[in-house]
Amino acid sequence: MSDINPRAQQHADIRRAVRDVCRTFDGAYWQKIEKSSGYPEAFVQALTEAGWLAALIPEEYGGAGSSLTEASVILEEINRSGANSGACHAQMYIMGTVLRHGSPDQKRKYLPPIAAGQLRLQSFAVTEPSTGTDTTRTKTFAEKRGDRYIVNGQKVWISRVQHSDLMLLLARTTPSEQVTKRTDGLSVFLVDLREGGGKGLIVRPIENMVNHETNELFFDDFEVPAGNLIGEEGKGFRYILDGWNAERILIAAECIGDGYWFIDKARKYATERIVFDRPIGQNQGVQFPIAQAYANVRAADLMRYEGARLFDAGEPCGAEANLAKLLAADASWQAANVCLQTHGGFGFATEYDIERKFRETRLYQVAPITTNLILSFVGEHVLGMPRSF
Ligand SMILES: Cc1cc2nc3c(=O)[nH]c(=O)nc-3n(C[C@H](O)[C@H](O)[C@H](O)COP(=O)(O)OP(=O)(O)OC[C@H]3O[C@@H](n4cnc5c(N)ncnc54)[C@H](O)[C@@H]3O)c2cc1C
Repeated sequence: MSDINPRAQQHADIRRAVRDVCRTFDGAYWQKIEKSSGYPEAFVQALTEAGWLAALIPEEYGGAGSSLTEASVILEEINRSGANSGACHAQMYIMGTVLRHGSPDQKRKYLPPIAAGQLRLQSFAVTEPSTGTDTTRTKTFAEKRGDRYIVNGQKVWISRVQHSDLMLLLARTTPSEQVTKRTDGLSVFLVDLREGGGKGLIVRPIENMVNHETNELFFDDFEVPAGNLIGEEGKGFRYILDGWNAERILIAAECIGDGYWFIDKARKYATERIVFDRPIGQNQGVQFPIAQAYANVRAADLMRYEGARLFDAGEPCGAEANLAKLLAADASWQAANVCLQTHGGFGFATEYDIERKFRETRLYQVAPITTNLILSFVGEHVLGMPRSF
């Protein structure tokens, strides 16, 4: 059967090369990893060694200097192959903060070893248990004492900490009652997790619905050298905001990869599975939901490419990036549901990988940003309706 993605010929070299890496890590690999609640170390290492996770690092620092469109194709292909970008995508998402706001010294120190695959920047610590989505209420506090910041507080759902060397941390550096704007007084730090032997930081894993390495973090007088502050103190919220459009577009691409994977599985099964002496896909009750899911994935994919095109052209893309993430997460979730339904009981069998991908793609409705928060962005910033919070 031909490729159902009409863009399969665009960036064909990237797609082929990423698929070649992913092919080694088949369903059996992912099932084995999940059974042992393990981390797909070999998979992440293979992608790292092939340079795919350093795509956004400029060539002068040893990276590929790829566009966001190209980076999005890499993540799409990872998910399209049946794998899960969640094990390693943060390096793409958070790279922009370091590239745009890091000092020349920080870039010289960290980017070449990241590009060479010697260091991993895979962790991003924003969410807190008592603040949730309201990031401006971040309570984790970093107090400057001499040449260090002393961090105290708590984070939750912080992924890949145990498999990353570096972590971007958002913390308050000016108490909220002393700032005029609620977005002020927050700062971003590039935390080197190898330093200090983890003193003052407790990492407690959270068991969860997907096999995702994610943790609670407890900071107790945790020291960060002042030189690891990114950009200006107190301006961190803006730096984080700055990276959100890229993040939304990259997540949309992962969802598109999932969506095509589910539809491919569904259409093949619907064509091959014989019940009542005919392929189940001959019944419109089976065929139409698959066609509808395909229409939704294709439409979302157009918005993803439009968001990426605008981003790469340096034009405003907030609306398109958010719409792409919203539409793509909905489309992949719908495709997941249809794929599972098409497979009947077999959809629940671990060996088909559908139930795993079903759980994995569900996460995109919640993390890294919930559907409601995207809708509120669209309502307020695109449609000009009253601010709701
Ligand atoms: C597996 C996993 C991995 C994660 N990895 C990371 C990570 O690496 N780093 C990190 O910082 N975070 C991470 N997160 C956290 C994730 O970004 C948050 O869970 C997500 O942003 C939602 O925040 P919350 O869970 O606090 O929900 P809440 O903010 O408590 O919201 C709960 C529900 O209420 C809705 N809601 C809240 N306020 C409003 C409103 N005003 N209007 C309408 N609806 C509203 C939300 O949309 C949501 O559905 C991860 C989460 C998961 C589950």
